[in-house]
Amino acid sequence: MTVTTRFAPSPTGRLHVGNIRTALHNWLLARKAGGRFFLRIDDTDAARSEERFVEAIREDLAWLGLEPQGEERQSARLALYEAAFERLKAAGRVYPAYETAQELDLKRKIALGRGLPPIYDRAALALSEAERAEKEAQGIAPHWRFRLDHAEPIEWTDGIRGPQHFDPAQLSDPVVRRADGSWLYMLPSAVDDMDMGVTDVLRGEDHVSNTALQIQMFTALDATPPRFAHEALLVGSEGKLSKRLGSLGAEAFREEGIEPEALVALLARLGTSQPVEPIADRAELVETFDLATFGRAPARFDEAELARLNAAIVHRMPFERAQERLPEGMDAAAWEAIRPNLERVSDAAEWWQVVTGPVEAPVLDAETRAYLGEAARLLAWGDDPWTALAGALKAATGRKGKALFHPLRLALTGRESGPDMHALLPLIGEAEARRRLEAAATA
Ligand code: GLU
Repeated sequence: MTVTTRFAPSPTGRLHVGNIRTALHNWLLARKAGGRFFLRIDDTDAARSEERFVEAIREDLAWLGLEPQGEERQSARLALYEAAFERLKAAGRVYPAYETAQELDLKRKIALGRGLPPIYDRAALALSEAERAEKEAQGIAPHWRFRLDHAEPIEWTDGIRGPQHFDPAQLSDPVVRRADGSWLYMLPSAVDDMDMGVTDVLRGEDHVSNTALQIQMFTALDATPPRFAHEALLVGSEGKLSKRLGSLGAEAFREEGIEPEALVALLARLGTSQPVEPIADRAELVETFDLATFGRAPARFDEAELARLNAAIVHRMPFERAQERLPEGMDAAAWEAIRPNLERVSDAAEWWQVVTGPVEAPVLDAETRAYLGEAARLLAWGDDPWTALAGALKAATGRKGKALFHPLRLALTGRESGPDMHALLPLIGEAEARRRLEAAATA
């Protein structure tokens, strides 16, 4: 069977870094196996789902280079859920329940008060035909629960957490359908995974108990459950699930000048035993992706680490990848000279301005001004004008080290530090370089 994974966001907001990580891992898992990766829009909650978020999700995945092979929308698949529901109903695996939210809440509080786990007591399952008819006659529409089979222990070998075991008697029969006929997440997701041929469900560990319930839904519908893997959640660098993390999405990263390659390189390895490295080559990340390297401890997302990774990615970024975002006239040679100094591609504009000028002549003492006058006279053009100039000046003045180089950089760029002068000087050009040296000498 072709390995098939899916990323199943609810379009109730933009993707945040945690969702992006789940999407990426599903993409990598499918790629590594030569399989398929699908996007499934979980939009059964019509009131909270918004079309603009569906579009944003698609855009974000495209920006990240995680385009799916296909897309499904739960709102277009309601007939499938209805059919599965009818089958479960015929088999006595779903039952109507009439408790109000307040009643359920009270039951929970009583159980907790007695030191018992707040498991649904199945009172609705015990109702007689006559009692049900009476509720219906009173106009009370039921919601529906899935009846767990208490005789069927729930077991799976989790791709990350290892062997898992749940006693169904310790779980509440989950509500699968509301009184208004709308669906909760649980059943549609299992039905879709069957129908879409999903072989591997990889999601956050907040879904572990859902998996236990869904496994029984698969078997109740005569399907073999997919493989499951639950990854530890992502936390902020301070070790908590911070608000900030929830607000960090592709859009925010893009605005901060973070490259998708940097985000992908970080999220691919964060929380695994493999080192986080500035790997821009997607094939390498695919090749080395391995669920067995995932740890159980929460993965710490550190924005400073992302910024460092981003800089490293930019330092190696090919011209073609940056080109569109570079200032007019900036060519491959200029990009290569400047990129080691950048934290973000957008900072290239500032250095390009240093190349094209004008730069402000620094205020210097008389001795330094005289030295720069000498530099202007000795400047000669060739393959490597910087080495030639430094050599000539060293011979003529006896200066070396900082005394030799620093005034030159100041005069030529107007800055204390910056890109390698070997690469920068040819970009500035002979006439302009001489003009800058002379200007500094006479300022
Ligand atoms: N829509 C669900 C969520 O975002 C999907 C969970 C799953 O992967 O099954 O939590």
